[in-house]
Amino acid sequence: MMKKLATQVIHEGYSPEPLAGSVAPPIYMSTTYVQKEVGVHKGYEYARSNNPTREMLEKNVSALERAAGTTAYATGMAAISSLILNLGQNSHVLASANVYGGTYRVFQKIFTNLGIKFDFVPTSSAEKMKTCFKENTKLVFIETPTNPLMEISPISEICDLAHENGAKVCVDNTFLTPILQRPITMGADYVIHSATKYLGGHSDVLGGLLCCADLEDHEINKFSQKSVGAVLSPFDSWLILRGIKTLALRMKAHQHNAKKIAEFLDQHESIQKVYYPGLISHSGHEINAKQTDGPGGMLAFELSNANLVDQLLSSLKVFTLAESLGAVESLVCVPAKMTHASIPREERRKVGIEDSLIRLSIGIEDADDLLEDLDQALQKISN
Ligand SMILES: *Cc1c(COP(=O)(O)O)cnc(C)c1O
Repeated sequence: MMKKLATQVIHEGYSPEPLAGSVAPPIYMSTTYVQKEVGVHKGYEYARSNNPTREMLEKNVSALERAAGTTAYATGMAAISSLILNLGQNSHVLASANVYGGTYRVFQKIFTNLGIKFDFVPTSSAEKMKTCFKENTKLVFIETPTNPLMEISPISEICDLAHENGAKVCVDNTFLTPILQRPITMGADYVIHSATKYLGGHSDVLGGLLCCADLEDHEINKFSQKSVGAVLSPFDSWLILRGIKTLALRMKAHQHNAKKIAEFLDQHESIQKVYYPGLISHSGHEINAKQTDGPGGMLAFELSNANLVDQLLSSLKVFTLAESLGAVESLVCVPAKMTHASIPREERRKVGIEDSLIRLSIGIEDADDLLEDLDQALQKISN
C-alpha cells in the first residue's frame, strides 16, 4: 500500500546507506566518479549528469507528485525554461493570465525571440478556453491558485480540453505543494515547482523542479537538464530534501493560520476585498475544494483606502516586508511594485493587480500574534 504523504516526505528517495548507515542523507560533493573499466561504473560519471544527493531529492518529489520522473534545477525559472526549450520553434503556448511575474518575463522577453508564441488567457473556466487553441498549441501552462490573485483553474477539465487539442498541460504547483494538490493525478503532464518557496521552506535556498507524468517526457527533460546544465547543487539538494521532511506539518500550520487571518480581514471595515480560496465568497472556492486538500497559506487583499498602503506596511511588526513566499516567517509584499513589477502597468491592471493590492505569505508563527499585528496596524491607519 502506498504510504501517506506525511510519511513519504520523510522517507522517499533515501534509506540509510551501506557504508556507515547514515540516517541523514549524505551530501556527495564529488564532481567525478571512478570507472572500473572504461564505461563501467555505478551509474555516476560526472555530477552535471547525475549526482546521488540530487537524485534523492528528485526521487522524493516524484513520489509526492505521483510523477514518473523529476529533474532538479538551480531555480524555479530554470525548471520552467527547461520545459519551454524543448517545445521547439514555432510552438504556441497558452498561459494563465496572471502567472508569476518572472514566468511572464521569460516567456515574453526570451522565448518569444526564439520563435515561440504565448497567449495569456483566463484559465478559470475550460469552456472559455475552447477558442484559444491553435494548430501549433503544444502546451497549456497554468498556475492554480494564481499569484497573487489566487484565481483557481479547473485542472482536470483543462487537461481534457488540452489533450483533445493535442497539447500537454503543465501546472505550477508552487503555491499548494503536493501536500494539498497533486495535478498529475488529475491528468496534468508536468508539474513545476519553485522549490525556493514551500519545499525549501526556510528562505535559505533557491531551487526548481520539473516533474513528468510520463517516463518518455522525463527522459527528454533529463537529457536537456544535463545538456543545458542549470542543475541544482548537491548542498542545495540536501537543504531542500531537509526542508521537505517537515512539509506536511508546515503546510498544515500555514493553512491553519491563513484561514484565521482571511476571516479576520474579510470582516474588517478597512478592507475592501480579500482573495483567499478558503473563503466561501471566493470565485474559485468550489473548484478548489474539489481538486485540493485545502486553500493553502497565501492570500491577498485590497485596502478600502489605497492611499494608506505604505502606512499600513510600515506599521506591521511581525510581518516582514519582502518578496518571495512559502517560508516559516510571515511576509508581506505589494505585487505591483515588487514581485510583478516586470509586467507593464496596463497589463497588470487588466488582470486585476492594482497598485493597492497587498499579498501575504502566512508563516507558521502563532496565529494570535499575526492577528494582533494586523489588527494594530489597521487600527493605526483608521485613526
Ligand atoms: C518564485 C516562483 C517561481 C520562480 O521560481 P525561482 O525559484 O524564484 O526561480 C515560479 N513560479 C511561482 C509560482 C513562484 O512563486
